Amino acid sequence: MLTLAVSKGRIFDECLPLLEALDAAPANHPDSSRRLVVPTQDADLRLLIVRAADVPTYVQHGAADLGVAGKDVLLEHGGEGLYEPLDLRIARCTMVLAAPRGAALPAGHLRVATKYVRCTQRYFAARGRQVETIKLYGSMELAPGVGLADAIVDLVDTGGTLRANGLEVVEPMYCISARLVVNKAAMKMQHEKVGDMLRRWAEAVEAEVRA
Ligand code: AMP
Repeated sequence: MLTLAVSKGRIFDECLPLLEALDAAPANHPDSSRRLVVPTQDADLRLLIVRAADVPTYVQHGAADLGVAGKDVLLEHGGEGLYEPLDLRIARCTMVLAAPRGAALPAGHLRVATKYVRCTQRYFAARGRQVETIKLYGSMELAPGVGLADAIVDLVDTGGTLRANGLEVVEPMYCISARLVVNKAAMKMQHEKVGDMLRRWAEAVEAEVRA
């Protein structure tokens, strides 16, 4: 039996057609049940419903053999103990630096509010730019308007949320999509099972892209 960690919401919803194509449709949708361990049509695959930011942790420690996680979450986690063999090409968006429309950003010390402290630090350090990160857990778009920060780092899809809050993209940072991740030990110890599961996921993604 293989265990796959996945989060509710956009990632789960966009995974559903892939799971169906794998002949592993979940027994129920997490929105209609409180069950956190969900069997699938494939007797050899069950799902663990966890918070998006916790997916890499479950997989890293082997509590799940596989997981579906956003690249944003993987960048923030660091990816220790994981392989990231497949881009699922779902839940796509861009991680950006954004600031109030028309604002001139300070050339020196920049205060950036974000949920993504680690990857923001890494991104700017690699470019030799000094930033102070202010950790938030949500509603980052509020921060510049109330003087908490000069700019934010957040995910953007349509750009509607930025526009509605008087912000604009200053700099795209990373292309984001959901990835299939695998526990390194499971890849070795259950090579055949995991390899077969990876092949099925890759075929499902190809079929979805072609459709
Ligand atoms: P939008 O208004 O379409 O640009 O969407 C931006 C909002 O949706 C922000 O609050 C983002 O944090 C969130 N968001 C956009 N894309 C994703 C994604 N792929 N995964 C998680 N959150 C996302």
